[in-house]
Amino acid sequence: MTADLIISGGTILSPEGPRPGSVLVRQGQIAALLPPGETPQAAQRIDATGLMVLPGAIDIHCHIRAPAYPQRGTVASETAACAKGGITTVFEMPITDPCCNTPDRVALRRDHFAQTAHIDFGLYAAPVDLTEAAFEALAASGIVAFKIFTTPAPPGREHEFAGLAWPQVEDQLRVLQLAARVGLPVVVHAEHAGLLARAADHASRLDAADAATHNAARPPLAEAVAVAQLLAMNISAGAKLHIAHVTSAATVDVLRRFAGSSDFSAETCPHYLSYTAEDVARAGVCAKINPPIRHASDRAALWDALADGTIGHVTTDHAAFSASEKAAHDGNFLTAPPGHPGTEVLLPTLLNAVSMGKLTLAQAMQLVSGAAAQRFGLPGKGRLAPGAAADIVLADLAGETHISEASLLTAARSIARLSHGARFQGAVVQTLVAGQTVWKGGLTGRPGLGRFITPHPQETAG
Ligand SMILES: [Zn+2]
Repeated sequence: MTADLIISGGTILSPEGPRPGSVLVRQGQIAALLPPGETPQAAQRIDATGLMVLPGAIDIHCHIRAPAYPQRGTVASETAACAKGGITTVFEMPITDPCCNTPDRVALRRDHFAQTAHIDFGLYAAPVDLTEAAFEALAASGIVAFKIFTTPAPPGREHEFAGLAWPQVEDQLRVLQLAARVGLPVVVHAEHAGLLARAADHASRLDAADAATHNAARPPLAEAVAVAQLLAMNISAGAKLHIAHVTSAATVDVLRRFAGSSDFSAETCPHYLSYTAEDVARAGVCAKINPPIRHASDRAALWDALADGTIGHVTTDHAAFSASEKAAHDGNFLTAPPGHPGTEVLLPTLLNAVSMGKLTLAQAMQLVSGAAAQRFGLPGKGRLAPGAAADIVLADLAGETHISEASLLTAARSIARLSHGARFQGAVVQTLVAGQTVWKGGLTGRPGLGRFITPHPQETAG
C-alpha cells in the first residue's frame, strides 16, 4: 500500500531513543518507522537529512481568549505562532469573557476554534458549580481538564474568573474530590490568598514603578504554602492534580517533600527558566507575569527540578495583551495586566538547554510533549511510534533561532519584550500536524486544519 508521506534522512527520536531512518505516514498517522535504506512508495517525500525528527510539542497552558478580545490576537494568529514554534497541540485556558464554565460555552469555543485553528486544540473549563452533576456535564463536553485558582478574581475581571477563583481551602478540597470522581485532571494556579493579601498591603507602600515591588506583592512563600495545602488535601482527595507555573526554589522543595504522596504533577515555563527579576526590571511592565519571575537561585532550582523529574512539564503560559493595554499601566507593576507571549520560545528554550547539556533531547521532548500526552489522556500523541498521530517537528540542532519583534507571529509581538533579541541554539525547521505541513519558513497550512482534541474518544467534534 502506498504511503501518503515519507520523511527520510533524519534522526528520529523514537520512544526507544534516537535512531536513523524514515517515518512513514498514512492517513495522518505514523504507519511505520523504517530503517535507513528502506524507501517504499509515497505520494510525498520530505528530505530530513541533517535534521532531528521530533514529536510535536503539546502546550498544556495557553491563553488565546478568543472569541473575546480580538485585539490581543485571534485563534488564527496565535495557533500560527504555535505552529512556527513547533507546537502541534495547544490547550486553551478558560479565562475569557465570558469565562468558559458551562458545556454550552465549551461548545461555542470548540466551534470557534475549529474554524481557524492551524493546530489541534483542547479546552479547559472552570467548575462554576461544585456539584458532581456539573463536573460530569463539563467532562462530557469534551474538556481536557478543570482549571482553578486559589486566589480571588482580580478586581474588575470577576466575569472572566467566574468559577475559577476558589480562595477557600474547603472549596479547593471539594474541587479535588469532584475532579477525582469524574477522572479528569485539575490544574491549579496556586498562590495563598491570605498571604497574597498581606503582601499586597505591604507592597502598596512601596514604589509601584520598581519591578521588585511585584515580587514583594506576590512572594514565593505564598506559592509554596498554597501548593503544600493542595498536596496535603490531595492525599485523601486523590485527584489528578497538576500545579501550574512553578516559579520558586521554595515550591520545588515542597514538591520534593510530597513526592509519591498522591497523583500530582507540576509545570514551569520558559520565562522562569530564562530570566530573573532583573530582566523584568529592564523590560518593564510588558514582562509582568503572575506569579512573578524570581531570582537566579530560583531559576537554578527549576532547572534542577526538570533534570531530576520533580517538575515534569514545561508550558508557555502564553498570555497576549495589546500594546495599549500594557502601555496604559506603564511604570506601574501593581496595576499592569499580567502576561507575556511564549509560544515561539518554548521549544527553542529546551533545544538550547539540550545544546548546553542541561537536559537530554529525550528529556526535553518528554517535558514538552510526551508527559502532556500521558498526563491528559492522549495516547495517540506525544510520541513517534506506529499508530500515533503524525504530529512532527523537524529541528536543526546546529541551527539558531533569533527572536525579534518582526520575527514573531503572535499578535502580541510588541509586548514580548523578554524575547526580543533572544538567541537560542536549535531551530524549528518544519512543523506537521496529522501529516500536513503547517509551517516551513512560513505558514503552509490552512486555518481550520486543527481539530478539537478530547480525552473522551467517542466525543470528537470540530
Ligand atoms: Zn496561565
